Amino acid sequence: MNILERYHAMDYGPAPEARNEADGWLAARDFSKALFIGGDWKAAGGGNTFDTNEPSSGKLLAKVSDAGAADIDAAVSAATKALPKWSASSGYSRAKVLYAIGRAMQRHQRLFAVLESIDNGKPIRESRDIDVPLAIRHFIHHAGWAQALDKDFPDQKGVGVVGQIIPWNFPLLMLAWKIAPALAAGCAIVLKPAEFTPLTAILFAEICERSGVPKGVVNIVQGGPEAGAAIVNHPGIQKIAFTGSSEVGKIIRKATAGSGKKISLELGGKSAFVVFEDADLDSAVEGLVDGIWFNQGQVCCAGSRLLVQEGIAEAFIAKVKTRMSRLRVGSPLDKNTDIGPLVDLTQLDRVKGLVAAGAKQGAVCWQPDVALPPSGYYHLPTLATGVSPANILAQEEVFGPVLATMTFRNTEEAIELANNTRYGLAASVWSENVNLALHVAPQLKAGVVWVNGTNMFDAACGFGGYRESGFGREGGREGMFEYLSAKLPLGPAIKPATATAQPVEQAEGDAIDRTAKLFIGGKQVRPDGNYSLAVANAKGRLAGEVGLGSRKDIRDAVAAARACKGWPEATAYNRSQVLYYLAENLSGRAGEFAARLTELTGATAKAAREEVEMSIERLFLYAGLADKFEGRVHQPPARAVTLALHEPVGVFGIMAPDNAPLLGLISLVVPALAMGNTVVAVPSEKYPLLATDLYQVIEYSDVPAGAINIVTGRSAELAGVLAKHDDVDGLWVFADAETCAKAEADSVGNLKRVWTGNGRSLDWASAEAAGDAFLRRAVEVKNVWVPYGD
Ligand code: NAD
Repeated sequence: MNILERYHAMDYGPAPEARNEADGWLAARDFSKALFIGGDWKAAGGGNTFDTNEPSSGKLLAKVSDAGAADIDAAVSAATKALPKWSASSGYSRAKVLYAIGRAMQRHQRLFAVLESIDNGKPIRESRDIDVPLAIRHFIHHAGWAQALDKDFPDQKGVGVVGQIIPWNFPLLMLAWKIAPALAAGCAIVLKPAEFTPLTAILFAEICERSGVPKGVVNIVQGGPEAGAAIVNHPGIQKIAFTGSSEVGKIIRKATAGSGKKISLELGGKSAFVVFEDADLDSAVEGLVDGIWFNQGQVCCAGSRLLVQEGIAEAFIAKVKTRMSRLRVGSPLDKNTDIGPLVDLTQLDRVKGLVAAGAKQGAVCWQPDVALPPSGYYHLPTLATGVSPANILAQEEVFGPVLATMTFRNTEEAIELANNTRYGLAASVWSENVNLALHVAPQLKAGVVWVNGTNMFDAACGFGGYRESGFGREGGREGMFEYLSAKLPLGPAIKPATATAQPVEQAEGDAIDRTAKLFIGGKQVRPDGNYSLAVANAKGRLAGEVGLGSRKDIRDAVAAARACKGWPEATAYNRSQVLYYLAENLSGRAGEFAARLTELTGATAKAAREEVEMSIERLFLYAGLADKFEGRVHQPPARAVTLALHEPVGVFGIMAPDNAPLLGLISLVVPALAMGNTVVAVPSEKYPLLATDLYQVIEYSDVPAGAINIVTGRSAELAGVLAKHDDVDGLWVFADAETCAKAEADSVGNLKRVWTGNGRSLDWASAEAAGDAFLRRAVEVKNVWVPYGD
């Protein structure tokens, strides 16, 4: 074989990484005392252990302590005890600890990489060059955030004791994404690794012991779902940060409803890899290898749906097949291995089952003629063509080395196909035309978009999903907010609406109908059920009637909000002008609104005037901020810029409060509108006439039809309908505790972004009831990575 033939064959001999250090580390430990609680190594209270096996051979690596509820309790107690001193320590001292952790990890970099590959099965090339360096970068980057906290987040403080639950696909990296920002924010931590991959977290705990982490600040408990559930349900924990499947994410959303716990969910994906006909096809093929076969496809943001433009599909698929034939499947500790084993037999069986189901539904599944190692949980890289959009391989997260391929004709079709999923984690767009790529990126419903690249990550750039890929971001400034909380001026508990007002039937033929209607799609419409509610004034006499909105009315309002394109697509400047105009028009009728407030609530004339004046001021504030609450540009340590764009969340449901019925409504609706969301608002059940009076102001203020919809009626009932509606993307509820809790629990269908006051009222006149805290909740941050250079 001459050198050229050798080059083309890419046929190398084995290049095994030494594992003696890792084996020595394994042999020297007592894994039956693997719970790191309060700075000590403890056995599980029940004496239970679970096995962790080596995926490349199936052999037992260790029997590791399996924490039960009592162990979780002990870990939470240790964290609670350590919290006050740690959270009160200076940013500088926390920065030193974070930096020390990063430096200590650097000294054990190779051991971490080998252990990770042994335990998880990922090729050493990946653990050595990607997982471990990125994990270290995370700690060093967050040392800076610890010190910048006072300056950059002046009104925020650490959220308290946090429970963190992570998956097995990037055991050390996910640990770093969780622990680094929490330490920087001054939180105390109880973290549970996944039961398939406990080892690198144990090595990490040893590093904590040596890096000046005070006892009890980091507690690492090993175990499975039972231990995870005990963390989720523990009353001593103030925040849950979870990375894992959407299925478990939904369980966690439901379990924490009404608890007041802050949660962030980083869940699954079915990310699109879109190749336009003007792409550099060879680069796109290499990108695809990285996109779907990195870590055997066990990657939340794997580019598992290849969308390729029709004209180049045949040529591109041929290139992909040629490249697949050269992928080396083998030992994770061989430095030349591209594809290692899956993490466990259960995972292998699951992937095989999904491939068989996809084939049954018409997909043609192709695999290269590559020999698999004799033992271990290996699966060949698989290319599925002829995949219909409804095929299980196009819809379900396979979490294995399986690529589903579809073609598209034009840009619109590419976007439509890419968004045809309940997930929204990442996407990759390939085109040599940067105008096209940057035209497409904002239209993709995904938290991260890579232009001519894939799987680019950095500690300074936020990562996280849209839709059922979860909520919250990890990394950088956005990620810090997940571990901080601002003090909201919460007031007394809100009492449930008493529902004393009785429905009144509307007479069909009534010549003059004085009932205030609903406001849907820019029109005043009668409620579907043709019932109205009597509204009492401050003296208990009839002040008027409003429509009794129903499930059907909410559905119509959501459809109108979804159909309204004029508002989300308008420029921020344009939105700003409309909001100013609304303010101007409300100002023209200020006296009327103040009189209505007095009549309904019994407020003094002065107080009523002040509430109206403040409502106008708030409209002015958000009109001004509409074109100022912008994204950022990150400069990660790579030849790329990352554009952190602020995008509207979508359709918002808003349950307005009774206290300050005009100001409360405006304080919630307007920031959502300012960021380009469309809104379905349910006004205060007690004082809805203030909202219905607003219709005319809205009507002559150039607000596009469908941007604001108002449905009056029973708050608790309508909140439930909004929470369950899968076309509502965000929901803000300021109502009694039961309504808030139910809204959170009912939101699991599409994992909408819910924000509630947990049953407490807010002082709407306070400065804290306006500004960035509201705008931040009204946007999704999309990180678009744009590489540069040849
Ligand atoms: P999983 O949801 O089964 O388990 C994740 C973690 O949750 C494990 O530690 C597990 O023990 C624990 N757990 C399981 N049931 C629980 C319960 N009822 N209550 C509390 N904890 C529970 O997920 P997995 O199979 O370990 O990981 C794969 C999933 O993770 C994929 O869906 C993948 O997309 C996702 N993931 C997402 C990201 C992201 O950033 N979005 C990153 C990596 C992985």
